[in-house]
Amino acid sequence: MKDEFIKQAESVIATTYKRFPVIIEGGRGCTLWDTEGNEYTDFVAGIAVCNLGHAAPEISRALTRQADKLFHVSNLYYTVPQVDLATWLVEHSFADRVFFCNSGAEANEAAIKLARKYFNDRGQTQRHRILALELSFHGRTFATLSATGQEKIRKGFDPILNGFDFAPFDDADALRNSINDTTCAVIIEPIQGEGGIRCPSPGYIEAVRKICDETHTLLIFDEVQTGIGRTGRLFAHEHFGVKPDIMTLAKALGNGLPIGAMLAKEEVASAFQPGSHASTFGGTPLITAAALEVLRVMERENVMGHCREVGAYFKDRLLDLQKRHPVITEVRGLGLMIGMSLSVEGTPIVNACLEKGFLINSPQEKVLRFVPPLIITKHKIDALIECLDEIFAKKQIN
Ligand SMILES: *Cc1c(COP(=O)(O)O)cnc(C)c1O
Repeated sequence: MKDEFIKQAESVIATTYKRFPVIIEGGRGCTLWDTEGNEYTDFVAGIAVCNLGHAAPEISRALTRQADKLFHVSNLYYTVPQVDLATWLVEHSFADRVFFCNSGAEANEAAIKLARKYFNDRGQTQRHRILALELSFHGRTFATLSATGQEKIRKGFDPILNGFDFAPFDDADALRNSINDTTCAVIIEPIQGEGGIRCPSPGYIEAVRKICDETHTLLIFDEVQTGIGRTGRLFAHEHFGVKPDIMTLAKALGNGLPIGAMLAKEEVASAFQPGSHASTFGGTPLITAAALEVLRVMERENVMGHCREVGAYFKDRLLDLQKRHPVITEVRGLGLMIGMSLSVEGTPIVNACLEKGFLINSPQEKVLRFVPPLIITKHKIDALIECLDEIFAKKQIN
């Protein structure tokens, strides 16, 4: 039955993903189960999305409550959940205004358009180029893949869009030298996610802010993966004590429901006027009611405090593991956004974990990523560590 189902899936679904041979049927908290009754502890969380875990009861209730009232009316009208969510985000961030959309790529599209429009409005049409970083990931639409510093993602889609430049990550001098009088904005993930959980050196993010100030360049933080508590702070840039001009969010904002957001300071945000940009589904009452509940639960339950505590514990345990298994070359990350570099390929380890009932993934060939729901317990972390210990010992790949 399972084999037949997978055959059917592979005959009708677009061939854009290589999927693991499991059919996930349900979940609760940090646990998922498949159609054969196997249980998995989830350290992927739908790729840093389900921060409050699966089927979070408060979110289900907020969603069904709103579903009984109103799904959608378009942005031709006001709705209360959208305004409440925007108010919450403005009150908890550097920003004055929020544009809602449906995904991370769309949020970055909006940010890129806003940065161009800002300078266009000031008669500086030559300032239209976006400076991005090598090994970045900003999405799969044309503008965002053009801003993505990974050849494998751009390959086959030439001509990609004009107007994007790249500098190496974590090199402030190179960034400064790459900005010129055609640059309108720098876009950067405070920690690179898809690039392999690459963390900036101390002082780098601060230096980027300073360079942008000195050159009057807009600074966009892509917090699609790092945002909404993932690193132990609501937004990762809070760790560095600097603020962007524009920030993008998506992944965890809806705990699995599709929503993206672009936030900006008034001076920049006001470059968008009625008609400048739009999204039919952006900020529907249905999804924003649920997203607001996500943020309220995070606040009420001190989810970020828990994330900082278990994140530090998790990292320590992985560092212990590194001492026993030299095949592990580095452990890095903040909060519950943790990566582990290996001297071997990650995929066999991911597959071995799956067999033992743990979901992890490998965003780059030799990197393992751990981004569990933020409600993960030390007990479940211990279980994964034990599993990894056995796998590394047995594989004798040291
Ligand atoms: C996932 C991701 C995106 C793209 O988000 P989608 O919702 O898949 O379009 C953009 N930027 C970063 C940093 C991401 O991790």
